[in-house]
Amino acid sequence: MLEPYRNEPFTDFTLESNRQAFAAALRQVGAELGREYGPVIGGERVSAGGRRASSINPADTQQVVGIVAQADRALAERAIQAAAGAFETWKRVPPSARARCLYKAAALLRRRKHEFSAWMVYEAGKSWTESDIDTAEAIDFMEFYGREMERLAERQPLTRIPGEDNELTYIPLGVGVIIPPWNFPLAIMAGMTTSAIVCGNTVVLKPASPTPVIAAKFVALLEEAGVPAGVVNYLPGSGSEVGDYLVDHSQTRFISFTGSREVGLRINERAAKTNPGQKWIKRVIAEMGGKDTIIVDSDCDLDLAAEAVTLSAFGFSGQKCSACSRVVALREVHDALLEKVVARTRQLIVGQPLEPSTYMGPVIDDKAMGKIMGYIEIGREEGTIVLGGGQGDPRGYYVEPTIIADVAPEARVAQEEIFGPVLVFHRAETFDEAIAIANRTEYGLTGAVISRNRAHLERARDEFHVGNLYFNRKCTGALVGVHPFGGFNMSGTDSKAGGRDYLLLFTQAKVVSEKL
Ligand code: NAP
Ligand code: MG
Repeated sequence: MLEPYRNEPFTDFTLESNRQAFAAALRQVGAELGREYGPVIGGERVSAGGRRASSINPADTQQVVGIVAQADRALAERAIQAAAGAFETWKRVPPSARARCLYKAAALLRRRKHEFSAWMVYEAGKSWTESDIDTAEAIDFMEFYGREMERLAERQPLTRIPGEDNELTYIPLGVGVIIPPWNFPLAIMAGMTTSAIVCGNTVVLKPASPTPVIAAKFVALLEEAGVPAGVVNYLPGSGSEVGDYLVDHSQTRFISFTGSREVGLRINERAAKTNPGQKWIKRVIAEMGGKDTIIVDSDCDLDLAAEAVTLSAFGFSGQKCSACSRVVALREVHDALLEKVVARTRQLIVGQPLEPSTYMGPVIDDKAMGKIMGYIEIGREEGTIVLGGGQGDPRGYYVEPTIIADVAPEARVAQEEIFGPVLVFHRAETFDEAIAIANRTEYGLTGAVISRNRAHLERARDEFHVGNLYFNRKCTGALVGVHPFGGFNMSGTDSKAGGRDYLLLFTQAKVVSEKL
C-alpha cells in the first residue's frame, strides 16, 4: 500500500554533506551546459529545421545553458495530432496505472533532486534554497495528484435508489495545451503537466521561452517513468509564434495556462471562439498575476512583520506571483517598520546563484530588467526611493532590492504587477482603511496580515479578498496539499493547484444508470 501523502522535506544546507552533494550536482550540470534540445513529438526527437534559441544563464549572460530548436506551426500541428492519437489509448489506461507513472517519476526526481535543482540555478538564476524548494514542490505535485486520481477513481458517493445501479466516473477531456511560466520552471510546469495526464488527457507542453531546458529534462524523466509516447509532447517555441495556433486549434479541448494577466486574457478570449470542426466548449484554466499586500497592524510583533515582508518581497528577486509587492502599515508602526525592513533588506546577499550564500540572484531576462527599471523610474515620480533603485552586477540581469515609500494606493507602482524586487509602502490611518487599500487592486492572489488583534484578524478573514491569505507569516511558500493555491479576480480562474478540487478541472463526470 502507498504511504499517505506528505510534503517532500527541504534540504538542510547547514549540513556540510548536503552542501557538498549540491556543489557536486552543480559541477555535473555545469559540464553538460550548451547541449542541444528540440521538440519531442509522439516520442520522437524531431529535428526542427528552423530557428534555434539559446537559453542563457541570467546571472552570467555569456553562459549558454542549452540551445533549443524552436517549433513552428507545422510542428505544433504535428504535436496536436500526436496527442490526439495517444489519447485513444491513454484514456483507457486505468487511473491507478496512470498514477503509478507519477509515483515513479516522483521517485526518479527524488533521486536526482540536486541535479534538477542545479539546472534551475543555471537556467533561472534561482538560489540553492529556492531551487531546492522548486524541486520539492514538483515531487509533491506528482505524489499528490497521483493519490488524488486514485481517490477520484473510487466508487463515488451517490444517493442510492432501489432497483437501479448508478455509477459516476471521472473521465478525461482530451487534448490539452499546457503553457507554464518560467518562474517555477520545474514545479509549476510539472504540476500543470502531470495533473492533466494523470486524469487520462494527453498534452502539448509549450515551455516558457526562458526555461526550456529544465522542461526538456523533465519530459525525459517522464519517459523514463513509463509515460507512453505521445502523452506529453514537448514543443519549445515562442508563445507568439505557436501560442495562438495551439489555443485556436479545433482539436484542443482545454488550455492550462499560468502566466501574465495579459496573455491569460488573450487565451481566454481566443478559446471562447468556436472554430470550424470544433465540437466542444474549450475549458480554460488560467492562473495569472498578483499584486500582493501585507497589512501590518499597530499591535503586532514588528520584527516578525519585517521578516515576513522582507522574505516575501525579495525571495527569487520578487519574481513570484505570491510575492509581497505592497505593504500597508498602520500609521503608528509605519516608520519603525520601514526602518526595520530597510535594515533587513540591506543584509540580503545579492550575488551569483552558484554561491551557496547568495540569497537573491538576477531577474530572468533583459526584457524583465527593462520593465522593472521602467517601473522604478515611475516610482521615483510617484514616491520616494528609500533603498536600491539601481542595477547590479553587469554580468547578469541584476536589479537591486528596491523599496519605495510615500506611495498613493492608486499609483501605478501600487497597482500594476512589476514582477521584480520592488516593494512599495503605504500608510493607513485605521485597520478598515488598510483592508480597503489591500483590496483596491484588480488582482486577488495572496495577502498577509501581521497582527495580535483577534478582532482584526477575524475581519481580515472575511474581508481581505484573496485566494491565499496568511496571518502572522510570509505570503509566499504555499505547500502542495497544505495550502491549495490560486487567486481571485484578475489573478485567474479561481482554481486551487495542489488541492482536492484541482483534478476536477481536467475531467468530466459521466453517470451510467442501469435498471436492474
Ligand atoms: P507570460 O509572459 O504570460 O508567459 C507565460 C507563458 O505564456 C509562456 O510560456 C509564454 O511563452 C506563453 N505565451 C506568450 N504569448 C502567448 C500567446 N499569445 N499564446 C499562448 N501562450 C503565450 O508570463 P511569464 O512572464 O512567463 O510569467 C510571469 C507571470 O506569471 C506573472 O504575471 C506571474 O504573476 C504569473 N504567475 C502566476 C501564478 C499563479 O499561480 N497565479 C504562478 C506563477 C506565475 P513565451 O515564454 O515563449 O513568451
Ligand atoms: Mg514572458
